[in-house]
Amino acid sequence: MDVITTVREMKAYVRAIHQRGETICLVPTMGYLHQGHLDLMRMGRNLADHLIISIFVNPTQFGTGEDLSVYPRDFQRDRRLSGDVGVECIFFPDVEEMYPPAYATYVNVEGMTESLCGRSRPTHFRGVTTVVAKLFNICDPDVSVFGQKDYQQLAVIRRMVEDLNMNVRVVAHPTVRETDGLAMSSRNKYLSGEQRQEALVLSRALNMARELVSSGEKAAERVRQAAIDMIASTPETVIDYVEIVHPDTLHCIDVIDDRAVMALAVKIGSTRLIDNIELRL
Ligand code: AMP
Repeated sequence: MDVITTVREMKAYVRAIHQRGETICLVPTMGYLHQGHLDLMRMGRNLADHLIISIFVNPTQFGTGEDLSVYPRDFQRDRRLSGDVGVECIFFPDVEEMYPPAYATYVNVEGMTESLCGRSRPTHFRGVTTVVAKLFNICDPDVSVFGQKDYQQLAVIRRMVEDLNMNVRVVAHPTVRETDGLAMSSRNKYLSGEQRQEALVLSRALNMARELVSSGEKAAERVRQAAIDMIASTPETVIDYVEIVHPDTLHCIDVIDDRAVMALAVKIGSTRLIDNIELRL
């Protein structure tokens, strides 16, 4: 397992691979790996000759007052777990390496980063697209895997790749859940035992919404309100948003007569969790 911390070395590493005519898959992460991340890596190793991951807790995607300083980290564990699933190289830069003092450039996808998570986290997606664009330039992957758990992030990255003519294929991996339905997340570590139980209302509300739609309900507002009512009846929950949107544009829809996604963000105590589900007729 190679661990590379500088941009210069990383570029040389991937150049050597491409010169041999071989392909690279990149799985970007912020570390503190869980089964969801590892499933993305298992998928990634079948998509290219070489599997590289990045571990970087990206400060530009955290707003002031968010959890950047306490975001969980355990590099030695991440290294062992990722090695076990076939990762050959970890790009593990520090903040100065990615954002030197003179740093001044940001990538912004307009029109789909202001809603949903963007409403309460107005600078978040600018940070995400900036760091992902940098990681693509540094690691030059042929393919890169992202989780549907972060549905808006996936849609925004797809938009960026298309708009900026990037030479990478973006592949989505379905949301990986605990057996009781909770979507896996590094942030689940913040939950107390009781909050962990309360957090189950997110996936329950999403499943209930899916059942409503599959049994014939087409009015998005009624489905949305049913989910809101279910979540609001659970103690310690504060709803950030519950929305039904078009899967590609992320624009809100009124009538569910084609593909749609219900996406939500809910605070359980001080922990903000997100989840989503595809709604099908
Ligand atoms: P993060 O470390 O949270 O930035 O996540 C790194 C990648 O793993 C992103 O593409 C996430 O969407 C993906 N990911 C995180 N949790 C899950 C999950 N439970 N299921 C599927 N993908 C996930």
